[in-house]
Amino acid sequence: MRKKRILITGAAGFLGSHLCDRFIKEGYHVIGMDNLVTGDLKNIEHLFPLPDFEFYYHDVTKFIHVAGELDYILHFASPASPIDYLKIPIQTLKVGALGTHNCLGLAREKKARILVASTSEVYGDPLVHPQKETYWGNVNPVGPRGVYDEAKRYLEAITMAYHTFHGVETRIIRIFNTYGPRMRLNDGRALPAFIGQALRGEDLTVFGDGSQTRSFCFVDDLVEGIYRLLMSDYSEPVNIGNPDEISLKDFALEVLKLTGSAVKIVYKPLPVDDPKQRKPDITRAKELLGWEPTVGRAEGLKKTYDYFKMLPKEELVKQPK
Ligand code: NAD
Repeated sequence: MRKKRILITGAAGFLGSHLCDRFIKEGYHVIGMDNLVTGDLKNIEHLFPLPDFEFYYHDVTKFIHVAGELDYILHFASPASPIDYLKIPIQTLKVGALGTHNCLGLAREKKARILVASTSEVYGDPLVHPQKETYWGNVNPVGPRGVYDEAKRYLEAITMAYHTFHGVETRIIRIFNTYGPRMRLNDGRALPAFIGQALRGEDLTVFGDGSQTRSFCFVDDLVEGIYRLLMSDYSEPVNIGNPDEISLKDFALEVLKLTGSAVKIVYKPLPVDDPKQRKPDITRAKELLGWEPTVGRAEGLKKTYDYFKMLPKEELVKQPK
């Protein structure tokens, strides 16, 4: 029997690279695709010698051709952190719209099942807490974050249209803040920002008064959720995230304790449209997939900190791409 073949877009990024590892481990032939706009080949270079790994340097907003059969597609290409999508807003909209359209077309052509990466940002600054999949969200389409949020809302809409109109087997995951090794220290997200500042001996910057909350999921838990959703027969969106909510101020204190750093916390004005609270309702994932997170913040933070500590010194001061 031939090996199952899977295409992973955004393969050189944080989540895409962990997905490549997981599907190689599961015995798949993995085709990674990326244009390296925010990703880094270092995340997947350990896979290059493997006969069951191929890499295509390609922008998914352009027509995608993959030779041979495909059983699955994971569409993860997209800038994901505010610092990235504020810098390349049009590419962000294009990868959510044209990139998703191209991936869905490929899934249809190859009769492959496709899972697309959506986000908790489709809930915007939520008026319902915690967020269930049935909540339609509170997004400002013309605010600075609208380019990402609306791209992902479009991604969901076109995915559902391909499912109902063309009968493509689709899965939609709404990912809540995820962290772990291979995040970029300078990607502007709270966790790497705090750890980077602590490692450089700088004060930790908290935006607003730090009372806004986030719920952080360790990457291994997320990958397990993605795997289970892909193997399920469920085409409505499913939240995957860790419901253990914490304020950003308390989170900064946890990072200070972990790193043993003597620096202070300093407060800066809140960015426009920054969500005040975020917490997934994961009832659907529990009931449908038997999934829930297993890695607590203390363990996940330690693993992530150990990864950042091992990075070469120049990575600590590197500016965003
Ligand atoms: P990342 O920036 O590390 O990875 C994204 C990858 O996509 C990068 O390697 C980048 O080069 C690639 N890419 C971007 N545009 C492309 C294009 N046009 N063609 C080909 N490749 C392209 O981000 P991540 O955190 O790994 O996020 C991956 C996916 O998960 C994204 O779709 C993101 O929206 C989604 N997501 C992530 C989180 C999270 O907490 N990390 C939360 C919600 C959703």
